[in-house]
Amino acid sequence: PSASLEDEKLKKNLQRIAHKILVLSGKGGVGKSTVAVNLAIALSLEGKRVGLLDVDFHGPSIPTLLHLEGRRPEVTDHGTMLPIAIEGGMKVMSLGFLLNRPEDAVIWRGPLKIGAIKQLLGDVEWGDLDYLVIDFPPGTGDEPLTVANLIPEADGAVVVTTPQDVSTIDVSKSVTFCRQLNIPVLGVVENMSGLVCPHCSQVIDLFKQGGGEEMAKRMNVPFLGRIPLDPQIVESSDAGEPFIFHHKNTEAAEAFRRIVAPL
Ligand code: ADP
Repeated sequence: PSASLEDEKLKKNLQRIAHKILVLSGKGGVGKSTVAVNLAIALSLEGKRVGLLDVDFHGPSIPTLLHLEGRRPEVTDHGTMLPIAIEGGMKVMSLGFLLNRPEDAVIWRGPLKIGAIKQLLGDVEWGDLDYLVIDFPPGTGDEPLTVANLIPEADGAVVVTTPQDVSTIDVSKSVTFCRQLNIPVLGVVENMSGLVCPHCSQVIDLFKQGGGEEMAKRMNVPFLGRIPLDPQIVESSDAGEPFIFHHKNTEAAEAFRRIVAPL
């Protein structure tokens, strides 16, 4: 199909989604994918119809986080793809489902990346959704820029950071990135913010605390909340069991629920 037909299809497809929320981070490893998965599930636990789309070219991690490695989306007779539905009804689509090896997309050139993103946005039958949470590539370079340009009318971005300075400085770049693209910043999430000692319940500020909040204030964007470091998050991630499903009564799960409440 011609470029404009394709764009038309993409736009039409996305019109059935009430809210499109981008999850960004200034750099890798701050827990962006973990936050994206748990926010999406928190919304779905509230009874919302939710899709989760992973467009992180640098080793898409959503299939691993949800134990969906090696799965392939079903292709319909009219050439569209069906997202994979998980327990609880959330629909999931990942660049990783289209790759033979998770690391393959890292070496793709621009046009191939654009083609893949267009396919993920235009050819996936999400149906009617209340929210589509999109796990972005990290940083503020070409990749997130390409993806952002292909998503018309995003509701806004959640920017994930850790509390220490090296990371919060990257946040200000993400905020600038959003402003340049006219994407509203929904707010900043400070992840890995303090560790609750399992023995004495005192909070140990491994990476300090409050850096994300300070940065949000300085950049004049909302602060959405802090998620503590919790070893159970690593365990669940590695086991492919969404944390918030299995550890509902933790401080971190409560934090995820508080963050989605106003979204
Ligand atoms: P990113 O998407 O930013 O690269 P990931 O979501 O893959 O980061 O997280 C990186 C690692 O940190 C993973 O092993 C994940 O389980 C762990 N992690 C993320 N957030 C937390 C947290 N709040 N507490 C403990 N571990 C976390």
